[in-house]
Amino acid sequence: MKAGVLENVNDIRFLNVTDPVLEPGDLLLRVKAATICGTDIRVYRGQKTASIRYPSILGHEFAAQIIDTGGHSQFSCDQPVVVCPQFACGQCAYCIRGAENLCRNLQAMGYEIDGAFAEYVRIPRHAVESGNVFSMPENLTYEQASLAEPLACVINGQQLVNVKQGESVLILGAGPIGLLHLMLARQSGAHKIIVSELNPLRREAALKAGADLVIDPTTDDLKSITIEATQGLGVDVAICAIGLPVLINDAVCAVRSRGRISLFAGFSAGVKAELDVNAIHYNELSVMGSFGLTRRHFENALHLLASRTADFGWLITHRYPLEKISEAFAMAEHGQAIKVAISGN
Ligand SMILES: [Zn+2]
Ligand SMILES: [Zn+2]
Repeated sequence: MKAGVLENVNDIRFLNVTDPVLEPGDLLLRVKAATICGTDIRVYRGQKTASIRYPSILGHEFAAQIIDTGGHSQFSCDQPVVVCPQFACGQCAYCIRGAENLCRNLQAMGYEIDGAFAEYVRIPRHAVESGNVFSMPENLTYEQASLAEPLACVINGQQLVNVKQGESVLILGAGPIGLLHLMLARQSGAHKIIVSELNPLRREAALKAGADLVIDPTTDDLKSITIEATQGLGVDVAICAIGLPVLINDAVCAVRSRGRISLFAGFSAGVKAELDVNAIHYNELSVMGSFGLTRRHFENALHLLASRTADFGWLITHRYPLEKISEAFAMAEHGQAIKVAISGN
């Protein structure tokens, strides 16, 4: 089959590789659309190396058509499906507590096993049996359905930081994840949403996605503007959607007392930030992380996409055939694009 293969750090190529080898009960899918995630870029650039193999096939945000049902009677050939790409064991202490995204034996597509930047992808039997494969809602395109994974991660993040109706929210970064946070906060009834972003195209996109106020952190004073926009208090919630550790200090300055901060973006291994711990102490701030998704978040995301209460599809601004995988990665990395899809296979 044709595939975009990560040969090494900074080296992704379009190659012919052997077809996936199926074990009994495995599902074989033909990938119809896959989108490039910020994490894929970090892996490509060697900023994320944990559980990465070389060579391997990345891609965990995708929608596909069933080629081989593996004998699972709930599925049929040619059926459009989407896959929650984190496969949990269901038995460890975290799975038992419902936090399957923190599973001790987590297996993730695009990392531990080959992902969707390929013509075909294999879904292991245990992932089919655990209910990680969802029927694709009829009113979605394959590209739109590919957004279920990042949207599910964003839903997890906002549930943890508990964005509530009428609250003010600051989002640091208006890349695809920041924009998804913005649109979801809007759906959750956030009252005032402020977005800080260097890139003018992305500031424009933030306005289009419904931001009340956009800030250019190179010229605007984020702290004073945020305080002023919230009757002198600061925002209820700040979400870091860029993997720059130092930005936590912007978040700490911008939230009110009892404010909540989500460290949503992943950071490069070993990079640390200095932090004003007293500001957290005296103002009773909460700082929380957010990682991945559960099947429940994935299902919620699919329902939200299918409900069409908001249009998320416009976030996909660029499309490439699999043959142009390295151009697609270059486009996703540079700021002209929001979300880049590999589609049309
Ligand atoms: Zn992703
Ligand atoms: Zn587990």
